Amino acid sequence: MQLKEYTLDDVKGKKVLVRADLNVPLKSGGVADETRIAASLPNIVKLHEYGAIISVISHLGRPKGEPKPDLRMEPVAKSLERLLTAHGSGISTVTYVPDCIGAAVQEAVAAQSPDTVLLLENTRFHPGETRNDAEFARSLAQPYEVFVNDAFGTAHRAHASTVGVTEHLPSFAGALMLREVEALSLITEHPAKPFVVVLGGKKVSDKLPLLRNLCGRADRVLIGGAMVFTLARALGLSVGRSLVEEKHINACRDIIADYSESAAKLVLPEDVTVTDDIESPHNIANRRLAEIEDREMGVDIGEMTRDAFALQLSDAATIFWNGPMGVFEHKPFDAGTIAVAKAIAANPEAYSVVGGGESVEAVNKLGFAASISHISTGGGASLEFVGGLELPGIKVLTV
Ligand code: ADP
Ligand code: MG
Repeated sequence: MQLKEYTLDDVKGKKVLVRADLNVPLKSGGVADETRIAASLPNIVKLHEYGAIISVISHLGRPKGEPKPDLRMEPVAKSLERLLTAHGSGISTVTYVPDCIGAAVQEAVAAQSPDTVLLLENTRFHPGETRNDAEFARSLAQPYEVFVNDAFGTAHRAHASTVGVTEHLPSFAGALMLREVEALSLITEHPAKPFVVVLGGKKVSDKLPLLRNLCGRADRVLIGGAMVFTLARALGLSVGRSLVEEKHINACRDIIADYSESAAKLVLPEDVTVTDDIESPHNIANRRLAEIEDREMGVDIGEMTRDAFALQLSDAATIFWNGPMGVFEHKPFDAGTIAVAKAIAANPEAYSVVGGGESVEAVNKLGFAASISHISTGGGASLEFVGGLELPGIKVLTV
């Protein structure tokens, strides 16, 4: 897959609209985690070096098509300004513009000096954004000459600011978008074998398409997290009070059948950690998957499974990991997640990618980020990409 990359001539002296993924967590009126803002810097700095006149847009949270005071981009503008200044980028000011279309934007762009960046208001304050409304897309594009999409994390959504706007402007992929697609393509296009996938996390429904698509692509898929229990139910086991998505048990049964007929191996835990209560556990035990008692719930992969997964990862040449192995936010239920992170770190020869909100948080928190080849900024987008699906925001940027 080849994406359109901008050159100096494409952007020099031009008014450029940059779609970034600045959908950051907020806390008491400020930005709680600046990771995504930091990830958007290289593209902005590069465009500035090329002499572009830059406006940035993003969505933030789920305002459902109307202005919500607590989801305004103003605190993000402050963070972006601070990070750009600390970077020594030559950009001194980030000006917050209280809308993303219309007169406010026109005037701000007309008055903009080259060493400032405009940050426009939350695109999702307009209902046309998620509907990919043609008129709204035209309004977004109107003050600009070039569009650069750097929002890999939103590339799986066909919205006005990711897809519609490309019908009105010459459109290119930004630096982060290029880096993500290059890193993830190493997994989708001829991955070195054995290709081992570790899938965990909470919602089996989010990961079913990936699980389905990996059959035939991956050599082994190791299952942890709450997903284990819906799959266990599909095998006819009882799982006590563990988290189960009843309505996906049948789909899980089909997936198990598909794997049994393919060369790919679906590896379920032999044992799990169980407890009576996550917040204040009185009893913690290690149980065989088939022996969970009625009052117990599974909260992590078990002791034997940690060793078994480490062994499965030890000879892997390509590794993709999404979703923690247990309720890692509560010790000691982080042990399975730590074991997988350690196993990946112990195999530095392998090309390893971690994607997904909580998985990345776990890897950072546990201090294993340096041992991973690529940490994806996209959760849903990286799952769909690795699953071999076509992402609408990327499709419109291909050569
Ligand atoms: P990611 O964001 O990496 O894609 P998910 O959002 O799917 O991952 O799931 C992350 C959440 O899954 C974590 O908050 C973790 O506490 C939870 N989780 C993992 N294992 C279990 C389990 N056995 N029971 C309940 N929740 C679990
Ligand atoms: Mg998540």
